[in-house]
Amino acid sequence: MPTTNLNNNLKPLRHSCEHVLMQAMQKLYPKIKMAMGPATDDGFYYDFDLDEKISEIDFPKIESQMQKIIDTDLAIIKSEISVQEARKLFKDNIYKLEWLKEIEERDEKVSVYKTGDDFIDICAGPHIESTKKIGAFKLTKIAGAYWRGNEKNKMLTRIYGTAFPSKNELAEYLKSLEEAEKRDHRKIGTEQELFMIDDAIGQGLILWMPNGAILKQQMENFVLNEYQKRGYKLVITPHIASYKLFEQSGHLSFYKDGMYSPMNIEGEDYYIKPMNCPFHVKIYKYSPKSYRDLPLRYTELGTVYRYERSGTLQGLSRVRGFTQDDAHIICTPEQLTDELVGVIELTKFILNTFGFNRFKVYLSVRDPQNKTKYLGDDKEWNQAEAGLKKALEISGWDYATDEGEAVFYGPKIDVKAYDAIGREWQISTLQLDFNLAEKFDMTYTDNNGARKRPFMLHRALLGSTERFISLLIEHYAGAFPLWLSPIQIVIISVGEQHKEYCKKLASEFTEKNIRVEVLDENETVGNKIRKAVMQKIPYVLVIGNKEINSDNFHIRKRDNEEIIEINKQEFFEKIKKLIDEKSLEL
Ligand SMILES: [Zn+2]
Ligand SMILES: [Zn+2]
Repeated sequence: MPTTNLNNNLKPLRHSCEHVLMQAMQKLYPKIKMAMGPATDDGFYYDFDLDEKISEIDFPKIESQMQKIIDTDLAIIKSEISVQEARKLFKDNIYKLEWLKEIEERDEKVSVYKTGDDFIDICAGPHIESTKKIGAFKLTKIAGAYWRGNEKNKMLTRIYGTAFPSKNELAEYLKSLEEAEKRDHRKIGTEQELFMIDDAIGQGLILWMPNGAILKQQMENFVLNEYQKRGYKLVITPHIASYKLFEQSGHLSFYKDGMYSPMNIEGEDYYIKPMNCPFHVKIYKYSPKSYRDLPLRYTELGTVYRYERSGTLQGLSRVRGFTQDDAHIICTPEQLTDELVGVIELTKFILNTFGFNRFKVYLSVRDPQNKTKYLGDDKEWNQAEAGLKKALEISGWDYATDEGEAVFYGPKIDVKAYDAIGREWQISTLQLDFNLAEKFDMTYTDNNGARKRPFMLHRALLGSTERFISLLIEHYAGAFPLWLSPIQIVIISVGEQHKEYCKKLASEFTEKNIRVEVLDENETVGNKIRKAVMQKIPYVLVIGNKEINSDNFHIRKRDNEEIIEINKQEFFEKIKKLIDEKSLEL
């Protein structure tokens, strides 16, 4: 999911509102057992245990109780007490007692916050001074959540809400939520029959329906073709591999939690792949390499499978199986900057083509105070970080440096893009890797015949194509650019006698690789047009006597009710040109 801009000043306010929520709940439902809840980037939530069933219908009642607490302007006061004292306060609450046990093990005092006289909660804070400072709030939804996120624990109830200093800010936020809801890719994905998820197949595993499969194919063909034009070599590797590969790559020691259990084939454990990298390394290692072979750029639309908790899965944005537009670049230290500049230019070109023009770029480097926690030597790191910086400067991309944010095996560049409603999405990653080159002993001979270690760079520009499609759906609210639209033109016959001509016309478009659908069911023309508009089809052609007997079409463009008359030949050419140019306009 995209993140909204986090305003740190809001956190104490939202956290305090969360306490007010629990205070109100305690008043309304005396048997409630509070569990825990934080302030989040969008608001707050609280988990609790209650036998009584609560639903969104109860929100007005809870909200008005909360408002009373806010209007009374109760002071919120921190104090520190001993674990013994706290145990007495929360003696009937198994959740709080579990916290307290952990606090006791750490040998700490218990920090508690009191709101007025009748509410107290274990909490590290910080909070605002009094309840009146909560200018405006709203409860937003209710859901189930396992205690501490673990599906082995009891399912609790979670109420979500948000709070702001003023009513205006809240109204603005609620409006943006509404806008986001209209664009929700799960909703549009169902309406346009793009993808589905089926319990018998499993959560987080996507079935691409015909319309969605076209969208995915268009996207993937475009990027793969572009990569190949720029000197990348296509490779294709299997979905599973023996434990031997993942043992050598280190995945079985540092990435095992993200991998699925192995299957045993003839006495040997095989794993479904969480990453494509070690497969590409094996292709590199097929024969000895010299500096003349480098740079080598291997690319693959590789489908990988990673374990995600069922509670975190979400439509296309968080799944268990996904395709990466993956590539690995292997080069000499001297080639590093040029290769990076190439990747950055390519990233810009690809994202621009999909209609994204506003970015935020982050360079993640080592923590200079703590160099020992990283793999690779000082010289390699300095070279790599300098290479990344220089490449960003040459490309003229504004960026922020995050010290200490590099992963242990190398520095990286992350690219975030803003969508049509201003949300930020993490998309492309360029990651240098000192680990795999080392683990697989990747080498090349330099021009003096010496064996050297190459640089290895992972890059995925769309990230996962599943997640990228969720972004496209929400960015365009389902009204895709012509070249990506699963159906580009709908042809509507006015009457029975025009059906034959419509079919002939459809095959003419199809021959030219233009995707059309003929709507000839016995419905009114108005209904058929409405259907096409609902599906956000770029063009609608209505065919009656007038069109059959003339050189002109009457067309209706998406988002424009006006009917335009255009010469048939001209229309064919125009459509073809817009598709070829991947135009964002109709
Ligand atoms: Zn708290
Ligand atoms: Zn990789």
